[in-house]
Amino acid sequence: MIDPFGRAVTYLRVSVTDRCNYRCNYCMAEDMTFLPRKDLLTLEELQRICSVFIGLGVQKLRITGGEPLVRRDILSLFEHLGAQLGSGLDELTLTTNGALLDKFSKPLKDLGVKRVNVSLDTLDKTKFEELTRLGKYDDVMRGIDAAVDAGLKVKINAVALKGINDSEMDQLLAWCGERGFDLSVIESMPMGDIGQLRDDHFWSLEEAKADIEKRWTLTPSNYQTGGPSRYHNIAQTGQRIGFIAPYSHNFCESCNRVRLTCTGVLYLCLGQDDSVDLRAPLREGASDQELRDIILKAMERKPKGHDFDHTRLADGAQVVRFMNTTGG
Ligand code: SAM
Ligand code: SF4
Repeated sequence: MIDPFGRAVTYLRVSVTDRCNYRCNYCMAEDMTFLPRKDLLTLEELQRICSVFIGLGVQKLRITGGEPLVRRDILSLFEHLGAQLGSGLDELTLTTNGALLDKFSKPLKDLGVKRVNVSLDTLDKTKFEELTRLGKYDDVMRGIDAAVDAGLKVKINAVALKGINDSEMDQLLAWCGERGFDLSVIESMPMGDIGQLRDDHFWSLEEAKADIEKRWTLTPSNYQTGGPSRYHNIAQTGQRIGFIAPYSHNFCESCNRVRLTCTGVLYLCLGQDDSVDLRAPLREGASDQELRDIILKAMERKPKGHDFDHTRLADGAQVVRFMNTTGG
């Protein structure tokens, strides 16, 4: 799949549910209403669409959500997709809040998953439980230990939040260093209407990086994912730190990814609303070839870049699409 700007699309992120066992305050409203179940793609439908994408050249699949591990029978999807590793698919991975990794790490590893991204914004138990509203810090720590024991490579994702974890970066970096984890710091994005002014806690990565560099020696790394992250090696720990700044246009030109929501909508860019519905044709009996044609046609509409403008954040959500539906 080559888009009009010559970029090969080889990476699909798939949200398998909008539901979550947490209510992180930057991601969801506390009284979040979830989609009716009939709107969600069934696991069979998800398998089918993913297989069509693999046939079209997708080499990397990331399963996300909502919380992917709360989806009933999720392992059957991993089983089906894991079986395609080595024949078109190179990597099958997931992003999780870690709460259920205690139970799922070993089976995921057995099905071919090698790496997991675990979201953890703070190592302060009280703060963590406030921020996630329903989260249990000890569950996540147990989950991370289980992932390591199962032989999964763990990367930590932390959203940069002024007044919340800005004073904790040293602690997070030291902890990741001790545990052998890379850390990605994510700039908060204007996703969905979460009923509070997100500007209150916005901490730009420029500021975050400048602050971290006062105490840690960072050198740019060659490590590249084709995504909006720029990695640096940390001399003191030997691990990497990635800065994921979705507003930055610097990475659009190497963008290699598209996103499928749990309702079967294909988004061509995280920051644009242009999308293509795959659920209707799927439920109307489209053949694999017809689905391929729809997807290839959609690629012609992949935009050159996104439209985020942080200075307009105070107006409220610019892109009224919850992260848990689109998949982070
Ligand atoms: N529930 C899983 C988790 O938390 O890892 C997967 C889905 S979550 C939507 C994926 C990632 O998006 C998480 O790392 C989360 O911190 C991040 N995220 C959620 N809302 C965000 C926002 N408004 N801005 C930036 N990142 C956000
Ligand atoms: Fe759930 Fe992940 Fe959103 Fe937190 S960031 S509410 S864990 S989907």
